[in-house]
Amino acid sequence: MVSASSSQRADVVLVGGGLANGLIALRLKSLRPRLRVILLEQGPTVGGEHTWCHFATDVDAVEAGWLRPLIVHRWSGYEVRFPGHSRQLPTDYLAITSQRLHQTVTAALGQDAWLSAKVSDVNPHQVTLADGRTIAAGAVIDGRGPRKSRSLALGYQKFVGQGVRLSAPHGLTRPIIMDATVSQEDGYRFVYVLPLDATRLLIEDTRYSDGPALDRPALRRSIAAYAKAQGWTIAKVEREEDGVLPIALGGDIDAYWREARPHIAEVGLRAALFQPTTGYSLPDAARLAETIAALPRITSATVRACVEAQSKTVWRRRRFLRLLNRMLFRACAPGDRYKVLERFYRLSPGLIQRFYAARLSRFDKARILIGKPPVPISAAIKCIGESSVFGGQDA
Ligand SMILES: Cc1cc2nc3c(=O)[nH]c(=O)nc-3n(C[C@H](O)[C@H](O)[C@H](O)COP(=O)(O)OP(=O)(O)OC[C@H]3O[C@@H](n4cnc5c(N)ncnc54)[C@H](O)[C@@H]3O)c2cc1C
Repeated sequence: MVSASSSQRADVVLVGGGLANGLIALRLKSLRPRLRVILLEQGPTVGGEHTWCHFATDVDAVEAGWLRPLIVHRWSGYEVRFPGHSRQLPTDYLAITSQRLHQTVTAALGQDAWLSAKVSDVNPHQVTLADGRTIAAGAVIDGRGPRKSRSLALGYQKFVGQGVRLSAPHGLTRPIIMDATVSQEDGYRFVYVLPLDATRLLIEDTRYSDGPALDRPALRRSIAAYAKAQGWTIAKVEREEDGVLPIALGGDIDAYWREARPHIAEVGLRAALFQPTTGYSLPDAARLAETIAALPRITSATVRACVEAQSKTVWRRRRFLRLLNRMLFRACAPGDRYKVLERFYRLSPGLIQRFYAARLSRFDKARILIGKPPVPISAAIKCIGESSVFGGQDA
């Protein structure tokens, strides 16, 4: 047992045992096994309660290779449903569970995965826990989830998901990534369904909303009503997860990083590394873990410089996705937002893949914008400038 005043030393301390730091831990242990890496997580497990999904085309071959042991489900293709059309798409969809991340990270780190370890202070060379213990380290990496900032304007994707066991097989073979045939409430509403086995499903009720308030009881009722409407009888709700994910409308990424504490390397959502339209961060987190583990020297300063550069680069590259978000959130009446997605899902499978991977070509961008947009032109023009979300004018 470590006494409250004791102090330890590590090469790397990972503050927060979530997705980003979990992946960094795995990559460091694999590529730099001599480094002592301590991970500090305030909760009882690494990764909390999550099902992290991504498309096979979101990650490069190198990351896909080392993510493979974390993959719990892989489906060949998926479907979307809208009032005007439904469609099957061929791209593989993969899921990592927080249970699997916990098992893999704790196996890799052994006693250096510290659970129920709340951190109260983070400095570039030392971390202090709430119980007074300290750890000195050459590199301190802060992955404690999103940081509040006035420099980013956000909309929200919020959801409640329930892992349910049905009383009879559901017959689904592929995920339904968006079922937007449901009533539209609180912005763009859709249901997301993952078939986990013959009788188990993850059913999530999701809304793209202007505000972050999450009415859990209402969403639970919506999930029950959806299951009933599909003819599914829920025998048991086995688990639940929820989230309020950032949807980036605009921002000043340089100002965002100036607000961060100097010389501390922030990672994951805290580094604004997420797909702006979905709020999903797994592909960025995997790429970042690969980059950090390959750094010639791993110190707070080198990791901070590397993450800040990566965050600023991808933020600038993803300007177009933030424009689409502004069209969705600011130019479109909340009840009509589904029409934007309905139209988008008529485009080619390749373009849809590149959209999710945040790798749209110039031609893709033009293809998305041409035709009769489902938003009023005058409202669309008003939100072209990124600073419009702050009430200002772009230079
Ligand atoms: C329910 C849910 C489902 C999601 N599904 C997907 C998905 O399918 N695909 C995808 O790409 N993205 C998904 N996301 C979005 C995003 O990828 C996740 O939010 C992801 O977990 C973010 O990673 P992170 O490492 O930045 O933060 P987190 O994974 O949230 O990790 C932060 C960790 O820091 C810990 N912590 C905070 N403060 C302290 C402290 N003081 N001391 C010690 N520990 C602390 C927290 O307990 C937490 O474990 C989902 C998000 C949620 C909420």
